Amino acid sequence: LTERLQNAIGKLRKKGKISETDVREVMREIRLALLEADVNFQVVKDFVKTVRTRAIGAEVLESLTPAQQIVKIVNDELTKVMGEEAVGLNKSEKIPTIIMMVGLQGAGKTTTLGKLALKLKNEKNARPLMIAGDIYRPAAIDQLEILGKSIEVPVFSMGTDVSPVEIVKKGLELAAEKKNDYVLIDTAGRLQIDELLMDELAQIKKLAQPNEILLTVDAMTGQNAVEVAKGFNEQLDVTGVVLTKLDGDTRGGAALSIRAVTGKPIKFIGQGEKMTDLDVFYPDRMSSRILGMGDMLTLIEKAQQDFDEKKAQQMQEKMRENSFDFNDFIDQMEQVQKMGPMEDILKMIPGMANNPAVKNLKVDPKDIEHLKAVVYSMTSEERENPNLFNPSRRRRIAAGSGRPIHEVNRMLKQFNEMKKMMGKVSKGNFEGMEGMFGN
Ligand code: GDP
Ligand code: MG
Repeated sequence: LTERLQNAIGKLRKKGKISETDVREVMREIRLALLEADVNFQVVKDFVKTVRTRAIGAEVLESLTPAQQIVKIVNDELTKVMGEEAVGLNKSEKIPTIIMMVGLQGAGKTTTLGKLALKLKNEKNARPLMIAGDIYRPAAIDQLEILGKSIEVPVFSMGTDVSPVEIVKKGLELAAEKKNDYVLIDTAGRLQIDELLMDELAQIKKLAQPNEILLTVDAMTGQNAVEVAKGFNEQLDVTGVVLTKLDGDTRGGAALSIRAVTGKPIKFIGQGEKMTDLDVFYPDRMSSRILGMGDMLTLIEKAQQDFDEKKAQQMQEKMRENSFDFNDFIDQMEQVQKMGPMEDILKMIPGMANNPAVKNLKVDPKDIEHLKAVVYSMTSEERENPNLFNPSRRRRIAAGSGRPIHEVNRMLKQFNEMKKMMGKVSKGNFEGMEGMFGN
């Protein structure tokens, strides 16, 4: 999916202005890319329609190229399809919060249950209890018990001769006694949805009144995952979805369709077999991942809004007062590093792309690391007051950061130049940019 989308958008990049025809063409490619990635047909249809309308209607912002705008629209809409914001776990008002895991056999229920217990333990200091409710395969109970040992979370089991409903009932009694704050119920799965399974799950649901019924679906099964999700949701009214095996899914189709088809949020994603491989699902990050552009998108956003917002204002304030110091400098460096390669970022700044000083700029990430090392070796007093540096302070900083003294000297010089330059940039003058980083 990623590759096709990139190709489609790549074609647009070569153009200056885009016409409606260009938009239609790129939308055709995007549509194919989505279908090929096994995204649900109706989802694709709606998606393409929205993006096309927005793309044609969009004002062409002077600061960005049209291709980037399309990327941004596609990104926005992908995010929207997946639910916009991360959705956290439901929580019970009084303990315990009960989480029931459902899904087909092999989808990753038991594994995810363990991952979730560990996450709750680590992040919320929780004391979870896991209940082994899959009695159809003896190995399933062993599996959960082994998992429990490895993450040091207790497991309640009663073997395979007692009905799952009974096991859950006894397990909940134990949790009440032990005052566990979370109870996680593992259940059996089948190879496909059948009535027996659904009956059993419905009974457990009725008894346990879970705050959360998490449906585990295997991302690698694509459209099928979506069908399964639909089926489970119709029968059990699940509260959320965990998409597993995303580490093996290169197409991303299931992630895109599930929310739209079931109306239920994806809450977590499984990205590996290890107990720590469970992450909160962020629609915007998934969207960037699908687009394969990583933080470039963040940057486009930045170019559009953040740049002139609060931070920039503060920064300007500082520039005006001439109080831009090394703390701000490090702050900037970190912001910038998060965004991607420096040379790309500079090109993103409105009006910079065609500036000869920027065009040929190459920045080695190591140089930035070195700059940071130097700043970290300064005392807080020094960071706030860049005028303090005498030779002995410089020597100390060089020793502390493991950088040669001439580099420290150069960096201090560059910092002062940067301060000066910032004044110029705000007046639209980019001379002196080259040589700012590295060299
Ligand atoms: P269950 O039948 O639904 O309980 O599924 P299991 O929890 O037993 O998982 C089935 C298989 O999928 C096991 O081999 C797991 O290690 C594997 N698995 C589960 N989640 C993930 C994941 O996110 N990534 C990968 N690569 N494997 C996973
Ligand atoms: Mg299992």
